[in-house]
Amino acid sequence: MANKHQGSCLCGRVKYELSGDFQSFFLCHCIRCQKDTGSAHAANLFSKASTLTWLKGESDVKTYQHPNSMHAKSFCQICGSALPTIAESINSAVVPAGSLDSIISIEPTAKIFVGSSANWSRNLDNVPSYEELPGQVKN
Ligand SMILES: [Zn+2]
Ligand SMILES: [Zn+2]
Repeated sequence: MANKHQGSCLCGRVKYELSGDFQSFFLCHCIRCQKDTGSAHAANLFSKASTLTWLKGESDVKTYQHPNSMHAKSFCQICGSALPTIAESINSAVVPAGSLDSIISIEPTAKIFVGSSANWSRNLDNVPSYEELPGQVKN
């Protein structure tokens, strides 16, 4: 029996279940992923021959296919959260890690397109870390 994974968007209108296993987990630093996440990289899990079921809110799911490329992004049209996309060309579901509510049991496979990475995202090891919002956010 295939493993089941559940996920949802930030506003909660969309919920999904993926039946299948994840074979790979890529942190993609390409320019397109920087634009579409607004962050340093996308974090996507790939699952071949899996079944994606929208448990609710399917009509609020929109998919943007970037012209002349494999880059696509599904998202909730209410809150903008990233949601899974079926990539027909590789027969895989592409699942944004942050959209999952269930535990992710595999470690990231690799960082990819690091040659395009944002200059500010390359040396983060020495950036101060806080458990929560620090008392003084602005200096
Ligand atoms: Zn939403
Ligand atoms: Zn990318």
